[in-house]
Amino acid sequence: MSSDRPSQRLELSVGDITTERVDAIVNAANETLLGGGGVDGAIHRAAGPELLAHCRTLGGCPTGQAKVTPGFRLAASWVIHTVGPIWHGGDQAEPELLASCYRQSLALADEVGARSVAFPAISTGVYGYPMAPATQIAIETVRSTPTAVELVRFVCFNDEAMSAYQRALGEG
Ligand code: ADP
Repeated sequence: MSSDRPSQRLELSVGDITTERVDAIVNAANETLLGGGGVDGAIHRAAGPELLAHCRTLGGCPTGQAKVTPGFRLAASWVIHTVGPIWHGGDQAEPELLASCYRQSLALADEVGARSVAFPAISTGVYGYPMAPATQIAIETVRSTPTAVELVRFVCFNDEAMSAYQRALGEG
């Protein structure tokens, strides 16, 4: 854990984001918003079919943007769906698009009044973004984005993610 702005806490947790008891969890979705593998599949399974039905009404989401839905059967009240960039080597605006995902997600959290938010390591699975720079962008962007969110939890699905976040937080 690390303390940043006096009013904001950044934490790491280990495991499955669908069990996080926070106001909003963030989904690393794809542009269709109609579900997929990885964390997206896990969130849809845990939230129930109502989530997919709701997502069908949203008309997708461009890369770097975010949309919010209820959490349905999740403990979290909200799911913020954001679409990370696919890694193409780093010169196709991947860092800017990834930072935008974190900023837009926090903006939506503010819009719905969520004060605690859990993020997965967006783009670091199937989308192939290397873990170290991705976690650095996650931490730096959350630290530098004005928001009323008081608690941001970065959920580490494996040891690689945990050590990358620890290094990015300056703890590793
Ligand atoms: P992307 O398409 O954005 O790369 P993935 O779902 O493939 O999305 O992976 C994003 C990150 O989420 C990866 O680091 C992966 O290990 C992690 N992940 C997968 N399932 C879960 C889960 N249930 N909870 C938290 N993190 C998860």
